[in-house]
Amino acid sequence: MSLEEEDKFYGDAKKYWEGITPTVDGMLGGFAKISPTDINGSHAFLRPFLVVGGGKTETTRALDCGAGIGRITKRLLLPIFKTVDMVELNQKFLDEARSFIGEESSRVDKLFCSGLQDFTPKVGTYDVIWSQWVLGHLTDDHLLKFLKRCQSGLTANGILILKENISGQDREFDELDSSYTRTREELDKVISQSGLNILKCEKQKGFPKGLYDVYMYALQ
Ligand code: SAH
Repeated sequence: MSLEEEDKFYGDAKKYWEGITPTVDGMLGGFAKISPTDINGSHAFLRPFLVVGGGKTETTRALDCGAGIGRITKRLLLPIFKTVDMVELNQKFLDEARSFIGEESSRVDKLFCSGLQDFTPKVGTYDVIWSQWVLGHLTDDHLLKFLKRCQSGLTANGILILKENISGQDREFDELDSSYTRTREELDKVISQSGLNILKCEKQKGFPKGLYDVYMYALQ
C-alpha cells in the first residue's frame, strides 16, 4: 500500500466512525441485540485462563483496544479486573464512555485517544489486552507490529485476546467503514510472524445467520 493509499484507508475509517452515534447499536453496526451473546461467549472463553478460573493470569489491569464507548469494558472487563484502560481512535466515543459505563467507571483509569497503529501499550503492564472488531482497521504491516507491541505490554502470565470477523474464502474490503475482513489463514500467519503462540482458538456460537463467523484467539 502506498502512503497515499494508507492515508485514505485510515482517513476513511476515521470519517466513518465520526458519523456513528455513541451507542451500543452504533458500535455493533445495528446489531445491539447480539451483545449479550457476545459478552457471554467472551467470558466463557476468557475465564479458564484467569487465576479466579483455575488459570495463571492475574486480574489487576486490562486494556480494551478499539474500545468505542466501552461496551466490553463495562460488561466484560470491569466485572473481572480491578482497573481497565481503554484505547480508542474517536474522541467522541471516549467522551461518552464514563457516562455509558456508569458508577464503575471510577475503575477505568486511562482513556487513550489514538489509532492502534500509533499506540504502544506500556511494557509489562496488562494481564489481558482485549482487541475486538477493530483489527480490520489496520494494514497488514501495522497489524504485525501492533501484535508485537501488545506482547511486550503483557505481564508475565498476561494474554492477548483477539475477537474478529473472519471471511471464508478471500479477504474482503468494506468500502463503507474502510476495513478488511481477513481469513483465518491470514490471521494465523500474522500471529505466527509476530512470535505469539495461540493458546486457544474458538468460534463464537449463537450469532444470527448471515453475519460473518467470529473467532476468539488467546495469544501469549
Ligand atoms: N470493540 C468495541 C467497538 C467496536 S466498533 C466493541 O466491540 O464494542 C470499532 C471501534 O474501533 C470504533 O470505536 C472505532 O472508532 C474504532 N477504531 C477504528 N479504527 C481504529 C484504529 N485504527 N485504532 C483504534 N480504534 C479504531
